Amino acid sequence: MHFEMTPDQVELQRMVRDFALSEIAPAQEQMDRDHDFPAELWRKWSDLGMAGIMIPQEYGGSGIDSLSYVIAMEEVATVSQTFALIWQVHVLVANMYAGLGTAAQKERWLPVFARGEKLAAFGLTEPGAGSDAGGVRTRAARDGNDAWVINGNKIFISNAGTPISDGLVVMAATGDRPNGKRAISSFIVEAGTPGFKLGQSFSKMAWHGMDNRELVFEDCRIPAENLLGQEGRGLSQALGGLNLGRIVFGILGVAMIRACLEESLAYAKGRHQFGQPLSSFQLTQAKLADMATHAETVRRFVHYVAWLHAQGRECHTEAAMAKLIGTRLSTQAALDAYQIHGGYGFMHEYKVNRLHRESKILEIGEGTNEIQQLLIARGLGC
Ligand SMILES: Cc1cc2nc3c(=O)[nH]c(=O)nc-3n(C[C@H](O)[C@H](O)[C@H](O)COP(=O)(O)OP(=O)(O)OC[C@H]3O[C@@H](n4cnc5c(N)ncnc54)[C@H](O)[C@@H]3O)c2cc1C
Repeated sequence: MHFEMTPDQVELQRMVRDFALSEIAPAQEQMDRDHDFPAELWRKWSDLGMAGIMIPQEYGGSGIDSLSYVIAMEEVATVSQTFALIWQVHVLVANMYAGLGTAAQKERWLPVFARGEKLAAFGLTEPGAGSDAGGVRTRAARDGNDAWVINGNKIFISNAGTPISDGLVVMAATGDRPNGKRAISSFIVEAGTPGFKLGQSFSKMAWHGMDNRELVFEDCRIPAENLLGQEGRGLSQALGGLNLGRIVFGILGVAMIRACLEESLAYAKGRHQFGQPLSSFQLTQAKLADMATHAETVRRFVHYVAWLHAQGRECHTEAAMAKLIGTRLSTQAALDAYQIHGGYGFMHEYKVNRLHRESKILEIGEGTNEIQQLLIARGLGC
C-alpha cells in the first residue's frame, strides 16, 4: 500500500498551485465582480495542456490518470471553485467523447477540446427532469436514415453559451421502453446548428464567470452520425461518466474546507476580542480543528476512490460516498468560517463571503446528496 504521490504528481501539484496563485486568484476576483467567462485565463490554462488533461495523447491531450487529475483539481478549486467547475465540465464531456465516440467523432472534437479552442458542455437537466434524469421530455426523432430532429429544452447547462462553446452533448428521448420508461440517447449538437438557440443566461448567487444557460431545440436537424454511443443507452453511458464527476465533487469539497481553514486561521490569529486573538478561544479552536480533520480525512478517501477509478475498478458506491461526505462537510466548514468572521463575513470584501455563497450548491450539483444516499443504500442491498 502506497501513501506517497509519484514524482510526476508532486510536480503537477506544484505547477498547478503556482498557476492558481499567480493567474487564477486575480481572475477569480474579476469573475465574481463582472460575471464574465475568463477567456484569457482559459487560453493560458489550455496552453499548459490542462484543457486536454485526460484526453489521450494520440488526440493531442496529456493522457493523465484520474488520481493525478483530482490532485490538480484540489489546487485549482482551493483558489477558484468557479474555474474548477468550468474545467470539470469540459473534462467530463471530453471523457465522454473519448469513451463513446466513433473514430470520426474523436478525430473531429478531441484535438480542439485538448487545445481548449472549444469548450464542452453537457445538457441533461430540464424544467421537469432534475434528479429524475429519466424523465427528460426533449425528443429526438429519426428523419430518414441520415438525420435526427431534436425538439425540447434544457436548463442550467454549464459552459453552454460562451463564445467558444461547441460540441454540446445533449440527452434526448428516442423512444419508449416496454416497461414505460423512456429510451434516452446522447447527441452531439454543434454551435450554430439551425433550430438550436441559446435561451436565458441564469443569474446565480455564486460561480459567476461560469455560463449557465437554457437551451432551446426547435426542429433542430442534426446528421445521423452525431449520435454519441449507442442508441437508447444514453442515460447509463452518462451516469457511468458521472462517477468521475462525483469523485471530483468530493475533492471540490476538500478544497472548499481547505480554503475555509486558511481564511479562518489567518483571521482568527489576527482578530482580537477580550484582549486575546480569536484563535486562543477553545470554541474557535474546535471549529478550526474540525476543518483540518475533515480536509485531511476526506482527501485520503477521495484519493483512494480516484485511484480505484484510475485502475478501471468498480467504484459506483464509493464515488457517491466521496461526493456525499466531501460536500456535506464543506457546507459545515463554510458556515463555521462565516461564524468565525462574525459580521465581517457578511461583507463582500471578505473571501469567506464568497466561500459561503459557493458551498451549498456542491450538495446539489452532480446529483444531489439525497440521490447519493439512495445510491449508497442501493449498494447496501436496500
Ligand atoms: C449552477 C448549476 C449548474 C448546473 N449544470 C448542469 C449541467 O451542466 N448539465 C446538466 O444537465 N445539469 C446541470 N445542472 C442541474 C443539476 O444537475 C440539477 O439541479 C440537480 O441534478 C438537481 O435537480 P433539480 O435542481 O431539478 O432538483 P430536484 O430534482 O427537483 O430536487 C429537489 C430536491 O428534492 C430532492 N429529491 C428529488 N428526488 C428525490 C428522491 N427520490 N428522494 C429523496 N429526495 C429527492 C433532491 O435531493 C433535492 O433536495 C446544474 C445546476 C446548477 C444549479
